[in-house]
Amino acid sequence: SLSDKLDAALKNVKGEGRINDLNIAETMREIRRALLDADVNYDVAREFTNKVKEKVTDESVLNAVSPGQQFVKAVYDELVFLLGDVHIDLNTPKKPPMVILIAGLQGSGKTTFTGKLAKYLKSKGRSPMLAAADVYRPAAVDQLETLASQVGVPVFSIRGEDGVPLKDAVEVARRAKDEARRTGRDTLIIDTAGRLHVDEAMMKEVVEIKGAVEPDEILFVVDAMTGQDAVNTAKAFNDQLNVDGVVLTKLDGDTRGGAALSIRSVVQKPIKFASTGEKLDALTEFYPDRMAQRILGMGDVVSFVEKAQEQFDEEEAEKLQRKFRTQDFDLQDFYDQLQKIKNMGSIKDLIGMIPGVGKVMKDIDVEDDAFKHIEALVQSMTPYERANPDQINGSRRRRIAAGAGMEVQDVNGLLKQFREMKKMMKTMSRLSGKGRQASLSD
Ligand code: GDP
Ligand code: MG
Repeated sequence: SLSDKLDAALKNVKGEGRINDLNIAETMREIRRALLDADVNYDVAREFTNKVKEKVTDESVLNAVSPGQQFVKAVYDELVFLLGDVHIDLNTPKKPPMVILIAGLQGSGKTTFTGKLAKYLKSKGRSPMLAAADVYRPAAVDQLETLASQVGVPVFSIRGEDGVPLKDAVEVARRAKDEARRTGRDTLIIDTAGRLHVDEAMMKEVVEIKGAVEPDEILFVVDAMTGQDAVNTAKAFNDQLNVDGVVLTKLDGDTRGGAALSIRSVVQKPIKFASTGEKLDALTEFYPDRMAQRILGMGDVVSFVEKAQEQFDEEEAEKLQRKFRTQDFDLQDFYDQLQKIKNMGSIKDLIGMIPGVGKVMKDIDVEDDAFKHIEALVQSMTPYERANPDQINGSRRRRIAAGAGMEVQDVNGLLKQFREMKKMMKTMSRLSGKGRQASLSD
C-alpha cells in the first residue's frame, strides 16, 4: 500500500542518520515511485517531490537535530496541502429546502451515500427527505426506500399502479422539491442514476435536473478504488456540472489512495466526505490532515477521538462518574454504554484507527458482534433485574439464560464480570476523587 511504500522510502532518512544529497535523491525517487504506484497523477507526483525536496534541502533542515523527522514532516505537510489543506463544510443553504444533488457513475456508491448523508444530517438536527431520481431500475428505488426507512426519513418517488417508477428523473426531482417544501423538510437529497462510463445521455439528465431544482450543493461521488479513472471521471462531471464537492467512497477497501491525492489538485474541488464501508454510519467528514496521517500510517487518532466525543457527552460522563462513586451503576447503564460503543462503528474500523496497532491487527479476525452475548443476556432481564443485579437468584438466572438461548453459567459469568467491574470502578473513582498525586505515589 501507499503507506507501506512511503514508510519504506522514509526509512532511509528516518533514524538518526544524517540527510545528505545522496539519500535525499534516493528517497525522492522512492516517494515518487510510491505515489505513481498508488495511481497518483504523474504531474502531481512530480510537483509533490519537488516541493518536498525544496523543503528538506533547506539549510536549517540539514542542520536540524533530527533531520529524518523533518523529512517526514515535510512529506506530511505536502500531503495535507495536496489533499486540500483544510476541511470544507457543506454549503450554507440559501433558503429551505436545501437541495443536495448526488451525481456519479453507477456503482460508485451514490445511493449508499445518500442514505449515509441523510443519517449524518439528521444527527445534526436537520430533517432530510430523499428523492429517488434513479428511475430506470425499480430495484434502485427499492434500495433507496430501504435505506430511508433504516434512517427514518421520508423518500419521494413516483410509481405507477403497477409499482413501476415513472421514467422521468427531472420530473421526480422537481416534484420532490415541491413536496419537501410543502411538508416542511429542510433538506432534500436527490439520488440520481449513473452509467458504467461517462456518457452523454447521463450527463444531459443530471444537467437538466440541476437546472430544474437549482441545488445548493452538488456532490460528485467517486469510488476511490478506481485509481486514475477516478480523476478522469471527476474531471468530466465537474466540467458539466461545476460540482461543489467530492465524496470518496470505498476508502475501507484495499485502495491505493492515489485518487484522493490527485482529485483535489486536478479538479480543484474539495473532498467533503469519505465513505469507509457499506454500513450507514461508515461516513466521515473529510479532513486533509487526518487523511495524510492515515497515508503515513500515523493512524486516524483524531477522528477516533471525535467519534468517541459524539457518543459520550460531558454531562453524561459526569452523571456516570457519580453513579460509579455511589455504586448506582447497574446493568441497564452497562447495556447503554455498550450500545454507544457499538454506535462508534464497527470494531474493526476502530482498531484500524489505533496508531501502530491498527496495521498489525488488521488481518486478525475481530468479531463485530463481540457484545452479542452480553446484549442478549441483558435484554432477557426485566428492568427490576437490570437495576438490582444482586437480586438475580437461581430461578431468575435460569429464566434469563433460557430467554437468551444460553446457559446459566453464561449468566453467572456476566454477573461476575459486572461485579468485578463495579469494584474496579469504585476504586478508580475513589482514586480520582482524592486526586492523582495520591494514586501515583502509592
Ligand atoms: P450507486 O450505483 O452509485 O448508487 O452505488 P450503490 O450505493 O448502490 O453502491 C454500490 C455498491 O458499493 C454496493 O454494494 C454498496 O454496498 C457498496 N458500497 C458503497 N459505498 C461503499 C463503501 O464506502 N465501502 C464499501 N466497502 N462498499 C461500499
Ligand atoms: Mg444507486
